[in-house]
Amino acid sequence: MESADFTLNDGSLPMLRAETRPAVTLNWQEEMQRALRNGRELLDFCDLSPAALDFDPEPDFPCRVPRPWAARIRKGDPRDPLLLQVLPRKCERSVVPGFGTDPTGDLHALAGPGLLHKYRSRCLLVTTAACAVHCRYCFRRHFPYAEQTTPWPDLGACLQAHPDIREVILSGGDPLMLPTARLQRLAKVLEDWPQVQTLRLHTRMPVVLPARVDSELVDFLRQLPQQVVVVLHVNHARELDEETAAALAALRRAGVHLLNQAVLLRGVNDSTDSQRELCEALFTQGVLPYYLHLLDPVAGAAHFAIDTATALAMHAALRAVLPGYLVPRLAQEKPGEAAKRVLAG
Ligand SMILES: *Cc1c(COP(=O)(O)O)cnc(C)c1O
Ligand code: SF4
Repeated sequence: MESADFTLNDGSLPMLRAETRPAVTLNWQEEMQRALRNGRELLDFCDLSPAALDFDPEPDFPCRVPRPWAARIRKGDPRDPLLLQVLPRKCERSVVPGFGTDPTGDLHALAGPGLLHKYRSRCLLVTTAACAVHCRYCFRRHFPYAEQTTPWPDLGACLQAHPDIREVILSGGDPLMLPTARLQRLAKVLEDWPQVQTLRLHTRMPVVLPARVDSELVDFLRQLPQQVVVVLHVNHARELDEETAAALAALRRAGVHLLNQAVLLRGVNDSTDSQRELCEALFTQGVLPYYLHLLDPVAGAAHFAIDTATALAMHAALRAVLPGYLVPRLAQEKPGEAAKRVLAG
């Protein structure tokens, strides 16, 4: 693989300020290898003692946090909204009625191994089990990924059987955990299907590991014949910094449309101010808010839940303080419905 430092390859990119640039720039695979991989390491990194929280040293969904994102956690603050998204806690072990292992009905929408065809005009590929970061509230934390890797040929069969599919969504896991060469092979399959006008990627990587947006990826995206949409997943304004700004600017210059989906999480982003700051911060980095999801009722995440009435009130308050184009749709996924349910637009 060539050098992953996109800031060296494109003279038109805004340079990171010297003091924020790491002494040695690692490529994204190297950054992945040195990611924090257990809660103790994470607490240590954040200058916190394990006694400060109901930290779980042996969670069934393991801890994983890339260092560039961990560096945005406020040191010594056990309530930090970034830390709470990733630290395994004992409260995840509570069994709460209504919170199960397949909250979105994914297992009933399988059109083939790794392929979900839930909504008419688009299909979704579970491209990989891997994620750069493990979010404690993840709706797929119990998804049987091992059985759902992606044999590309099934995509062709699905497109043939469903000529109304206009958009292919790469999901996961995180599709940008795949090497760019794998994405290129997938794009090759799509060359035979001009009905597919849009390629969408649902990814957290440009934000949790900005080095993933290297020149190889940017060049690949730039030359695709389809419209390319990247839907990021950012929950809090502090997840964005100068490094994400540079990575997102590189994507935009490659012609990529940038949207964001967030999940409404108790203790993380459940105030009008926090949501307003998030939407404004996204816009300064060229990203439009798309969805604000109510938490999917997944076992282990009940402590993050916000009730619908509170969410609706917050959304109404948000509309009063933001221009319409910065207000995300408040949405909820209901198993078996024809589209995500929008509770407020
Ligand atoms: C969310 C989702 C989509 C995309 O829905 P949009 O409303 O177009 O963002 C497609 N397929 C599946 C299975 C989904 O969960
Ligand atoms: S990045 Fe997405 S799929 Fe991966 S753990 Fe987080 S919420 Fe789940």
